[in-house]
Amino acid sequence: MKYTRILLKLSGEALMGQQQYGIDAVRLMQYAEEIKKVAATGTQVAVVIGGGNIFRGVQAEAFGLDRVQGDYMGMLATVINSMALQSALEKLNVNTRLLSGVTIQRVCEPYIRRRALRHLEKGRVVIFGAGIGSPYFTTDSAASLRAIEIEADVVLKGTRVDGIYTADPEKDPTAVRYPTITFDEVMAKNLNVMDMTAFTLCKENNLPIIVFDMNKEGNLQRLIEGETVGTLVTMEHPKPTETNSTSSGLHPSLDTPSEQA
Ligand code: UDP
Repeated sequence: MKYTRILLKLSGEALMGQQQYGIDAVRLMQYAEEIKKVAATGTQVAVVIGGGNIFRGVQAEAFGLDRVQGDYMGMLATVINSMALQSALEKLNVNTRLLSGVTIQRVCEPYIRRRALRHLEKGRVVIFGAGIGSPYFTTDSAASLRAIEIEADVVLKGTRVDGIYTADPEKDPTAVRYPTITFDEVMAKNLNVMDMTAFTLCKENNLPIIVFDMNKEGNLQRLIEGETVGTLVTMEHPKPTETNSTSSGLHPSLDTPSEQA
């Protein structure tokens, strides 16, 4: 396997499936199956899941409520999603532990780095709930921070889009996907990969990010096996021998102006 330890970031919105709100049971089980396959390879798996399908802190401000209160509501939403994912994994006989950045002792363990490492070493899938436990952050920041803390090899950002594009592919049909891109290029081109806090944490700690389509069956496993899936963000473009040829066959840097948004 290409990676020993991964941190998988799933957005809360992705859990909605076709719904407008909440958790889609089919999508939830689909994610659990994908995680199970990867954990079965011996790869250590940690997961951070968002809460956007239930509540985001910015919504509170829109209601005229306190932002910090809203952020805690968002964090609790991530715990609900984490509990759902934990149950789905347990249904598939996968050993899991849920560690929360906000102490909720009847439901989950508090986040303690050494405990997280121990669980991972024992082959348990570790789910980090409640983000980093502080307002004004996002679960992307939690994914970056926890990945650095547990010395994960990579952050895998599972989305509904199969990588980073020159423009939003859902709005611009001429958008082209980058197979690889550097942290500096993402910043220079002002591309939206993660929020800046999360992205900077990865950049400063030389932690690679892969953005990929989590909804395509088998994609997560293909990634772990070393196939080129989605877009890889690193300090420098990997040398040609380090990457397999990509299905798109695009040149890594895609610097020609005609291909830019
Ligand atoms: N949140 C927070 N601190 C954290 C993580 C999350 O305050 O460390 C709050 C924030 O309000 C955020 C909400 O929880 O909007 C849900 O997380 P996020 O928006 O990252 O979920 P996603 O977009 O991935 O579904």
